[in-house]
Amino acid sequence: MTTFDDTLQRARSAFASGKTRDINFRRKQLENLLRCYEEHENDMINALEADLRRPKQESLVVETELLKNDVKHILYHLNEWVKPEKPSKSFVNLMDDVQIFKEPYGVTLVIGAWNYPLQLLLVPVASAIAAGNCVVIKPSEIAANCAKFVADVIPKYLDNDCYPVVCAGPSETAELLQQRFDYIFYTGSTRVGKIIHAAANKYLTPTTLELGGKSPVYIDKSVNLRTAVKRILWGKLINCGQTCIAPDYVLCSKEMQEKFIVEAKDVLKEWYGDNIQSSPDLSRIINQNNYQRLLGLMKSGRVALGGKYDASERFIEPTILVDVKPTDPVMEEEIFGPVLPIFTVENAYDAIKFINARENPLVLYIFTSETEVQNLFINGTQSGGACINDTIMHYAVDVLPFGGVGMSGMGSYHGKYGFDTFSHQKSCLGKDLAAIGEKLASARYPPYSDQKSSLLTFLLRKRRPLPNLHLPYVLAFGLGVGVSVLVNYLIQVRKGKLSR
Ligand code: NAD
Repeated sequence: MTTFDDTLQRARSAFASGKTRDINFRRKQLENLLRCYEEHENDMINALEADLRRPKQESLVVETELLKNDVKHILYHLNEWVKPEKPSKSFVNLMDDVQIFKEPYGVTLVIGAWNYPLQLLLVPVASAIAAGNCVVIKPSEIAANCAKFVADVIPKYLDNDCYPVVCAGPSETAELLQQRFDYIFYTGSTRVGKIIHAAANKYLTPTTLELGGKSPVYIDKSVNLRTAVKRILWGKLINCGQTCIAPDYVLCSKEMQEKFIVEAKDVLKEWYGDNIQSSPDLSRIINQNNYQRLLGLMKSGRVALGGKYDASERFIEPTILVDVKPTDPVMEEEIFGPVLPIFTVENAYDAIKFINARENPLVLYIFTSETEVQNLFINGTQSGGACINDTIMHYAVDVLPFGGVGMSGMGSYHGKYGFDTFSHQKSCLGKDLAAIGEKLASARYPPYSDQKSSLLTFLLRKRRPLPNLHLPYVLAFGLGVGVSVLVNYLIQVRKGKLSR
């Protein structure tokens, strides 16, 4: 018996009991989760401060408020999302029920990452609950204070059999992954994503992988540079660059590069003062490993701005690198810190070539006022998402799916897309056993003949779908016209007979 047998057994029995299929039960759990966020907002902010020295404002905007809004969005829309879908029908199924039921997968596993340790874990958990699943909740052990918060507090609000919290590092997670799950939702590095995918393969478990990558920024001279620099630097420096959708590197002309650096220097002074290290508004690097890794990456090219660091606080100053070669270490991996290399390109076509020579990014940032240039990038590159003239903000649009493509991930979530991710789309065709339907369909039975084949070909032929909504009216109208024509005809025949 492994450490996780008992937890999984209880979750399996809970799912088999059917209680998570009850919409009222799901609602109650989600309301409890919302209450948890409201009652423990300060505890969450404190845990984030302890793990990342995250400023309160950032924690409010990108964790606690985001979590509350996510659950509210689900609660507002749950009734409409759970309804079976009724797609438009083809001619052959006019009289049938054609429906898609949203069925929970069963016992799911959600594995979180350390950089946004609460929302990256609890947003998919809320989607899984909404869709009627049981969820094993696995926080990242690296953000230890947030993991402790999740383990201590969440079980006080959620059903413990259906939604157990499991604290595990890499080796215990490897053991956990030996269990059979019905869906796995993972957020983290591409390296570990491959391990998760390989483990899921054993039971052909469907998987969402929310991974990382190097998200490029293109800027041309049509932009308002001050605004563009502010938006890019904010996206780069929130959580000290430890954001999966942080701008990773900039592509622009030589002329723009010089202007960007001048503007960036001014903006950083405005935001953090003369001594950036003493500002309370910049997070710190999560641990020594990542701190040392970033110092290594800062050796690429030449430091044009910043470059200071302090091991005692794991502080790294916002740093801009220039004269970087595409083969330098800083371009070999996702930076995940406050270091921004700039590459000079001749034009948009050059930039697209540069981007396409690399793995698909999680997001592509395009700063230009020219619609034509925006379209060039949208149509000429592949990325999980795109954001024009801003950074990060696309993440908070809950009607947009969020996810990667290729090496930046598979699958997506947020809002309705999260609900759909955790729902199996069960298709169902419903017929009746009436004699007329059976008569029409009986051409499919042997003995086969040319006449039956012709009838079947006619019935099955693809036709433009009729809008569902109007079908009963069309049929009633057709029936009415048919009956009146028939009655009229019979009257005429009768009159004719009488007058003859
Ligand atoms: P990570 O891969 O080190 O850890 C993520 C999770 O995987 C943790 O819960 C950890 O316990 C588990 N884990 C680690 N090693 C494991 C192993 N060998 N076997 C099984 N499980 C293991 O990732 P990270 O360092 O926490 O996160 C950083 C990466 O995640 C970056 O690449 C970033 O871009 C990416 N990320 C992506 C998103 C997104 O939404 N797409 C969000 C945040 C972070």
